[in-house]
Amino acid sequence: MRFILSFLGLLLTPQVVVLRRRFDSEKVFRVKVQNENQLNDLKDLASMIQLDFWHPHSVHHVLIGKEVDFRVSSDQTNFAEKFLEQNQMQYKILFHNLQEEIEKQFDGGKLFRKKYSYTRYNEWEKITAWMERMANKNPKLISKIEIGKTYEERPMYVLKVGKQSGQKKVIFMDCGVHAREWISPAFCQWFVKEAVRTYRIDKDMTKLLDNMNFYVLPVFNIDGYVWSWTKDRMWRKNRSNNSNSDCIGTDLNRNFKASWGLDTEDRLHDPCEPVYCGSSAESEPETKAVTSFIRAHLACIKGYITIHAYSQMLLFPYGYTEEKAPNHGKLNELAKEAVDALYSLYNTNYVYGAIATTIYPCSGTSVDWAYDEGIKYSFVFELRDRGQYNFLLPESQIKPTCKETMLAIKVIANHIVSTVQ
Ligand SMILES: [Zn+2]
Repeated sequence: MRFILSFLGLLLTPQVVVLRRRFDSEKVFRVKVQNENQLNDLKDLASMIQLDFWHPHSVHHVLIGKEVDFRVSSDQTNFAEKFLEQNQMQYKILFHNLQEEIEKQFDGGKLFRKKYSYTRYNEWEKITAWMERMANKNPKLISKIEIGKTYEERPMYVLKVGKQSGQKKVIFMDCGVHAREWISPAFCQWFVKEAVRTYRIDKDMTKLLDNMNFYVLPVFNIDGYVWSWTKDRMWRKNRSNNSNSDCIGTDLNRNFKASWGLDTEDRLHDPCEPVYCGSSAESEPETKAVTSFIRAHLACIKGYITIHAYSQMLLFPYGYTEEKAPNHGKLNELAKEAVDALYSLYNTNYVYGAIATTIYPCSGTSVDWAYDEGIKYSFVFELRDRGQYNFLLPESQIKPTCKETMLAIKVIANHIVSTVQ
C-alpha cells in the first residue's frame, strides 16, 4: 500500500520536464560583410530577430571583410534570407537543417556506443569513470585532485600527470569551458592517454613527464557540458541561476578578473546573452575553483593552456587591450613554432597572434587572467575546424585533430621545461 501511495505521489508531484531541444530546419548562415552599410544592416537584422552568433560571438565583433556565422531558428530563416537578399549581402547557408548535422557528428562507429572511446564524444558519466580508471591504473603517473564543485554540485577533478617527485614545473591545461565545443574535452582525454602511453617510449614525452607535471581539467564547465548532451546541444554557458532574470548561465570565459566586465558593446552584462560575464568577477563556482587552485600553485605553474573550438587559431594575451604583452615577441615566436609543428602532420592551417589584434578585444578571459597572475606562457587554442562543421565536428575528426594538436602542445611544453625558470 505504502508503495502504491508513494508511486501515486510521484505521479502527482508537479515536475518540470525539460525535453531535449531539437533544431529541425534551423539554419546556420555564413555572411561576408563587405562595407559599413552591410555591417549596419546585419546589426539591424540582429535587433529584429534572434541570431545565435557562432563566430565571432557577438554582432559587435563582426569586422568588415570578415565572415560571420550565425544560427537562425526555423520560423525566422525565411525572413533572414529575404533580408540578406534585399540588402545584397553575400551569404551562404552552411547548414540547412541543423538537427541533421547534430546527428551526423556521431560518425565514430555505431557499435558499442555505450562504451567509452577516445575517438568518440563521451558523456560526462563516461568521462568521470574514465578519470577514476586512469588514476587507478597509473598510480605512478596520475593522481586525481578535487578542486571544487560546480553550480549543480558536481565535483571538479584535475588529473595531475607526471612522474612523482619533488617540486616540479607545471602546466595547467583546461578543456570544455564552453559547453558546446565538444572537441575540446575530447582533446584533454586524448592528451592524458597519449602522455601515459608514450611515457618511456617517446623521448620528448618522457623528458616532459620526468621534469614537469601537467594539471589537466578535462571538463571545466561540467554542468553546461551535461546540458549540451541532454537538453541543448548548442549551449555555451554554465548553468547558474541569475537573480532578476529568467535567463540561465554565465560565460565562464568572461568571468575572470582580467578587466572583468569591460563592455565593448558586447552586452556582457545582460544575463540573456551568451557572453554574459556574471554578477562579479569569479562569481561562478567553476571559475572560483580554478582560480583558487591556480593561485595556490602559482609558484610552480609556468604555463597555462586553455582549449576551445572552433576556427583553428593559437592565441595569447592580451584580449582586453591591444597593447602588446611584455614578452609578446617570445609568445609570437613560440606560437609560430607550435602551429608549424601542428601543420606538419596534415597541413592544417592555424592563424596565431595576440587575441585583441588577431580576432577582437574581449575582457574577463582566463588566459589574460593567468598571464596577469604571472604565468608568462599562456595560450588559447581554437581547434578545428574553420566552419564547415563548426561546433559539430564529426567524431571521425577527433583523432587527427588530437594528433596534430599534441604536436603543438609539445612544442610549448618543451620550451617551458627546457628554458623557463
Ligand atoms: Zn570557447
